[in-house]
Amino acid sequence: MKIAIIGAGAAGMSTAYLLNKHHDITIFERQSIIGGNIRTLNKNVQGTQLDTNLILDCGVLEFQSGHFPNFHKLMNRLNITMAKGETSSELFLANGHCYKSGAGLMHHSKNFNEFLNEAQKLTPVVKGYMQFLLAEYRVTSEDLYDKTVSTYLDNDIHAVWLKMLLMYAYSMPYQKIADFPAEIAIPLLRHSTMFTKWDRMVGGVYTYIEKILEQFEGTIHCSAKIEAVYRTDTGIIISTASRERLFFDKVIFAVTPEQVLNLLGDASADEIRRFKAWQENKIETLIHTDISFYEHFGVSYYTEFDVFQTDAQGQCGYNAYLNRLYDIDPIEYSHYSLAYNLGAQIDSKTIIHKQDHNTPLYSVDALRYRHEIIETNGENHTFHAGAYLGNGLHEGAITSAYSVSDLLTGSTH
Ligand SMILES: Cc1cc2nc3c(=O)[nH]c(=O)nc-3n(C[C@H](O)[C@H](O)[C@H](O)COP(=O)(O)OP(=O)(O)OC[C@H]3O[C@@H](n4cnc5c(N)ncnc54)[C@H](O)[C@@H]3O)c2cc1C
Repeated sequence: MKIAIIGAGAAGMSTAYLLNKHHDITIFERQSIIGGNIRTLNKNVQGTQLDTNLILDCGVLEFQSGHFPNFHKLMNRLNITMAKGETSSELFLANGHCYKSGAGLMHHSKNFNEFLNEAQKLTPVVKGYMQFLLAEYRVTSEDLYDKTVSTYLDNDIHAVWLKMLLMYAYSMPYQKIADFPAEIAIPLLRHSTMFTKWDRMVGGVYTYIEKILEQFEGTIHCSAKIEAVYRTDTGIIISTASRERLFFDKVIFAVTPEQVLNLLGDASADEIRRFKAWQENKIETLIHTDISFYEHFGVSYYTEFDVFQTDAQGQCGYNAYLNRLYDIDPIEYSHYSLAYNLGAQIDSKTIIHKQDHNTPLYSVDALRYRHEIIETNGENHTFHAGAYLGNGLHEGAITSAYSVSDLLTGSTH
């Protein structure tokens, strides 16, 4: 069959890989490079100020070791080397207080007294967190449906920390996290205990897209301008901005969900209902070499999950310290971080790269009809894939790719 895939992010490229040997695939990507939120400097992102000997990610970074089964299955199949990171997180408050990670305490306390003081500060956090884990252990996905995060997390210090980790995971403004769907957030938090390991990809995340490209036999159109997608009794017509009409047997939308109705020229009432509440979340990430904003807190140990409250009104951001993740010696090179929403804290002279991203703006309204999108995949020659159909992260993207490829190959993964 001739199949069009619209969107070349994780979901689109993984679906293309899984269907490659079975069907004739054409990918349409509106940006000039493929990868979606995978933005690996000196791989798919070229010409930045980063030393060309280094590779750093300015988007997708890490993957849960135990709880991303479909992701790890695909990476094994592609022969990708993963490495385990030392996972820790520190919380920095606008009032100058900070809560250190276990690793920060162990390695960087100046003396035993400091260790005890800092460990004592963590007691209410750990207690609240344990209570949260115990309370949410038995909650089912039916219980979580149509609920927001604020049903489960209040403003205690452990809850603030967890909400800031959700801001990090989903690149959402902190002010919107209380309204974030519990259906996605609570399972992630439940599986992200202090002992959870996060894997990184040796050579940067774009490495697995490179492996897919090595085997891909179809066609990729970057900077594609699709005007509309129409369905007929027998297949699909894609009309482009240059007035071409292209014919396919099936179409797979692997775009962010708010794009679907913009692209469909003949959306049904059901499709309008399923997609109309989705909105776009536009964000910017920075790669920079500034560590001076930690000095204010007396901290010289940096983690990849450092979350910052930046003002009393509740603005927040994160800084992911990259040297340990990428095995980069800060003395030979520099201290590198990936930051979100810390523009005012970071010295602009230290910024190496700015990256725009689009993600779905997750909300309870938007998620309400998600099960229908999954259940009706294939109707009217039309399929949908994307992280938003699963956990919103790479596991969701790859799981959706497997589901679509199962339907189109008749096999089960
Ligand atoms: C800064 C950041 C960091 C992240 N870090 C992690 C992480 O560490 N681990 C993790 O698991 N997840 C992370 N995520 C989540 C990440 O979004 C998902 O894991 C996954 O990469 C999403 O893949 P996707 O294919 O569903 O969507 P996307 O990556 O958004 O891909 C959609 C593609 O469709 C294209 N498109 C959109 N509209 C059109 C159109 N009209 N025509 C043609 N093409 C179109 C887009 O340009 C894009 O390439 C991160 C996200 C961000 C923003």
